[in-house]
Amino acid sequence: MKNFEELKLNAPVQRALADENYETPTPIQSQAVPPALLGRDVLGCAQTGTGKTAAFALPILNRLGRQNRKAAPHRPLALVLAPTRELALQIEESFATYGRYLRMRQLVVYGGVSQTNQVRALERGAHILVATPGRLLDLMNQGHIKLDQLEVFVLDEADRMLDMGFLPDLKRIITRLPDQRQSLFFSATLPPNITRLSKQLLKNPVSVNVTPKSISIEKIEQRVLSVERSEKQALLRKVLMAADVDRALVFTRTKRGANILAEKLVRSGIKATAIHGNKSQGARQRALMAFRQRKVHVLVATDVASRGIDIDGITHVVNFDVPTDPESYVHRIGRTGRAGAEGIALSFCSAAERGDLRAIENLIGKKVPVAAEHPVPALKDQRPMRLSPGSKVAVSSRSILNGAPPTRCSADSSGDQDNPKRRRRPRRRSRNTRCRIKQRN
Ligand code: AMP
Repeated sequence: MKNFEELKLNAPVQRALADENYETPTPIQSQAVPPALLGRDVLGCAQTGTGKTAAFALPILNRLGRQNRKAAPHRPLALVLAPTRELALQIEESFATYGRYLRMRQLVVYGGVSQTNQVRALERGAHILVATPGRLLDLMNQGHIKLDQLEVFVLDEADRMLDMGFLPDLKRIITRLPDQRQSLFFSATLPPNITRLSKQLLKNPVSVNVTPKSISIEKIEQRVLSVERSEKQALLRKVLMAADVDRALVFTRTKRGANILAEKLVRSGIKATAIHGNKSQGARQRALMAFRQRKVHVLVATDVASRGIDIDGITHVVNFDVPTDPESYVHRIGRTGRAGAEGIALSFCSAAERGDLRAIENLIGKKVPVAAEHPVPALKDQRPMRLSPGSKVAVSSRSILNGAPPTRCSADSSGDQDNPKRRRRPRRRSRNTRCRIKQRN
């Protein structure tokens, strides 16, 4: 399909797409939109970054726009379930964007914040409701949401939902959906438990597959850098100070790790902030906004952010910690190289993480190339150069990967620590220290 006119969407929707400069439907859109417009159920294998939000939003807006019904209090006509608040917010934003010329009300509800405003908005009524499963169930159980008028049900990122332990909630929600409905089901992967769930939800679906792995990975230059755990921060600073790093997303395994790392980067003069599940919704939104508006150049995140972040122009993704779940790798690096752009994904791999790296390579079906300066196994005599705060490296991150020696702009005596001979020499103790040790013994 070459252009959106062929999809025969309502004029207001077409106009909104023109505003967004969307000219050609992405593969998931050209395959999923036509059957969805005919009212068919769809099973879509695609991940974020492929344009799948529009693939389900456009048919919904087209359908509801044509009906021109008033929004009834508590009774949405379309329901989209998403695993995280960030993703739910982005989906709601997309509905607002694509539906800006329609008289359509959309609402997003998620946990972790007071429900008062959400309940008030539900009383006013919304055509389209985007929700995370826990809060949706809560509000349904309190009678604030009734699904008896529902026409379209969308389950987005189904595999992620199950990974996050939402299956019991999902089952409860599914039993309360009306029988007469259209269902659109999206997942990045289709393992057996997801296929089972899709069979429960979908009637005679059209299957659409946009081979997510190749989409997210092909355009992304991936490298693994073998490095000892204790050296990761110095290596990260070196990478982030490279000339071509415009916006970088750095992943850590733990929330505490994300906080500490962001603080250390800030202390060394790099504009960074952290985002993870322990932060309040307001703080998460503020962090995302600062990153979007380029007030900070580095966002340190845990996996909770890996699927929800839709920010164009992320030039680098750095796996400060190799993810233990191989599928997270695909999702993390998919935050760069979005909408056809190129991107660089670097994974810092310590000796203890090599098993995790192998699992990733098995999943993606190829070896992640090793950066020339950091071959595996290496390390002892090949430590990365330390940088003092404020020192600049006038190289590109690609030359770090390909082994070109970085040119330092400022002298840094701490670099001597990387001289193996110097490192091995035992430190001379002062006379006083020797005495104290003797006394203790
Ligand atoms: P999604 O996979 O829905 O998260 O979309 C990824 C990005 O692609 C978003 O920034 C969308 O605005 C953008 N996008 C979606 N469809 C198109 C299209 N047909 N043409 C250009 N950009 C698009």
